[in-house]
Amino acid sequence: MCSIIGYYGNSGAAPIIVNGLKRMEYRGYDSVGVATGSNNQIGLKKGVGKVDEVNSKVQLKELPGKVGIGHTRWATHGKVTTTNAHPHPSNSGKIAIVHNGIIENFEELKKELEIEGYIFKSETDSEVIVNLLQKNYESTNNVKDAVMKTISVIKGHYSFIAIFENGQLAAARFHEPLIIGVKENNFFLSSDVLGFIEYTDNAIYVENGNFVILEKDDLQIFDFKGNNAEYEITKVSK
Ligand code: GLU
Repeated sequence: MCSIIGYYGNSGAAPIIVNGLKRMEYRGYDSVGVATGSNNQIGLKKGVGKVDEVNSKVQLKELPGKVGIGHTRWATHGKVTTTNAHPHPSNSGKIAIVHNGIIENFEELKKELEIEGYIFKSETDSEVIVNLLQKNYESTNNVKDAVMKTISVIKGHYSFIAIFENGQLAAARFHEPLIIGVKENNFFLSSDVLGFIEYTDNAIYVENGNFVILEKDDLQIFDFKGNNAEYEITKVSK
């Protein structure tokens, strides 16, 4: 069981993400990584080992920017290596993703993408999601449409968070957990409330089969058909 986390707000993202990952260490994992967005570029660092070990080797917390994603991996597809650790960048490097779960039809999707010229660096199932997002974003130029097209073809169970180089975040939930912590204009996406409870106890429990877009301080939640989804902010009991 791995953990995913995302932050979109007014403070440096990387230290918040690393602290959140540490709070969720009890869930078990074999590798860790963080990607952040700053000045229309995605910076990405990852490695095998515990959060503190990887942070002292590659300084995860020093990645710049106020938006980012992080992951602790429990390998299901592919060995425990730095290349297989998340986040995974898309071929263009303009999108990166963290994923919790399994994509059952990844082999077939990977073959289709390879025929179109996409190159896969990892052995994971997760890397198909980010390259599908790239393909669908390039054809639609719209994050919502790119997410909808992508989730319409992937099968399995997942929650994922994607970061786009322009600083937008998108996340989707299908039979894996995803909770949003809200503190004014700061949003924390997480597998578990422990990922953000030190900052806020206001939480939105994203419904199964919904996806989330964060851009320009605005949170939007949709069902997989693209309709606005209803949600409420509740208090987490501490
Ligand atoms: N299936 C993905 C992998 O093997 C994600 C595993 C996880 O949930 O940590 O990398």
